[in-house]
This record gives sequence, structure tokens and C-alpha cells, in this order.
Amino acid sequence: MDYIKNLQLIDDKIAAAALRSGRNPEDITLLAVSKVFPVEVLKKVYDTGVRLFGESRPQELRDKMPLLPADIKWHFIGPLQTNKLKYVVPHAELIHAVDSEKLATAIADFAGKKSISASVLIEINTSGEALKRGFPADIAVEQILKISELNHLQIKGLMTMAPYTEDISLIRNSFSLLKKKFDEIKKYLNKPDFNTLSMGMSGDFEIAIEEGSTLVRVGSGIFGPRRR
Ligand SMILES: *Cc1c(COP(=O)(O)O)cnc(C)c1O
Repeated sequence: MDYIKNLQLIDDKIAAAALRSGRNPEDITLLAVSKVFPVEVLKKVYDTGVRLFGESRPQELRDKMPLLPADIKWHFIGPLQTNKLKYVVPHAELIHAVDSEKLATAIADFAGKKSISASVLIEINTSGEALKRGFPADIAVEQILKISELNHLQIKGLMTMAPYTEDISLIRNSFSLLKKKFDEIKKYLNKPDFNTLSMGMSGDFEIAIEEGSTLVRVGSGIFGPRRR
């Protein structure tokens, strides 16, 4: 796998999508989603200059982190159960997929006990698909304001997954809904560090950028296809 070439291609596409929507390419961060790939592969991608990696399983993060350079920043992007917080909360710079008040409260309690502060994104179900996780888009504002009052928890923004479909307009609608929610919540929250919109993966990050994404989560586009 030619990681340098993959990354160059993605950087070019990020820049092009930003420019055609009147945005500055530097306002978009690329998260290299390394789940499933072994540490040797992450090391190769690290050696090309990447310092921001995303993992989606708590134990996998726990196992990989000590084997890789300490200047890597880790984001946790997967579902999180409260009995796995110890593998994630002390180590993740950002937790992407907080999808319930219960989880938010558990993270805040855990962070409080460790005297640290956890940074999180709130996951919104923007597609309405029954199997998708996340707060339903229509009740999000009230719940998010409530969560934002927890100590030891910093809400940095929102995250979503687009629907599984070939229909570009449905994908675009889900991203534009998240952006709309983001703007609405930002007005109420009045916090300058509520500034992150995590949306877009290998197949749809260009659409996500056109709709306002600030953080794209790209796995297979960098690392190649995943085997499981
Ligand atoms: C796996 C994963 C990605 C990356 O998916 P690709 O299609 O490989 O880019 C992004 N976000 C989440 C939440 C994931 O679980």
C-alpha cells in the first residue's frame, strides 16, 4: 500500500472540496481511522507525518497505544460502554460518539475521579435510520444543553454517520442537518470551543466538507480495505 500516495490524494480532495465551497482547507482536520490495522501499519503511516489516529474499540486502543510513539493524538470514534471507560477516557483527546445522557454522565464521573477533563462530541442520528445510534435530531438541543452543564466534560461539537445509501442527496441532507443543528446549538451554548463538526468518511468526505465538516474520519481511503 502506498500510504504517501493515498494521503496526497485525500489531501488534494479535501483542499478541492474546501475551495469549491468557499472554505479554507486548513479548517479541515483529517483523522486517520486505523481500526483493525496492526501497529506496524500505523507506524508506516506515522512515518509519513500523520499524528492523529482514530480507533473504535476500547481494548484495541489500549493495546496499540503503548506500542506507538507518544506524540500521537488518539480519537475514540466507536460505541463506548461504561465498563470500558478506563481504556478510553484518560487517553483519547476526543471521544466522538457520545449518544446518551447516561454515557455522558458516566464519562464526566470517571473524568472527575481522575481529576481530568474529557472532550466529547455528541452523536446525532441525522438519517433517522432505526439502527443508527445517536440522539434523534429533533430533541438534541435540550439534551445537549443539559449535558453541557456536567463538570469534567467539554462538549466540542457534533458527530454523525451518513445513511448507508448510494443516494447522494440523502447523504448530503444528513450532513446539512448536522450543520444546521450545530449552528442552532452553538447559539444557545455560547462556547467558543464548540467548534467541531465530525462528519465524512472515505466514501463521502467531500460532500461532508461542502456541508461544513471540520473533521473527516478516513479509514480505507488511507489504509486500504479492512478485512473484518
Ligand atoms: C470505520 C469508521 C470510519 C472510517 O470508515 P472508512 O469508510 O474506512 O473511511 C469513520 N467513522 C467511523 C465512526 C468508523 O467506525
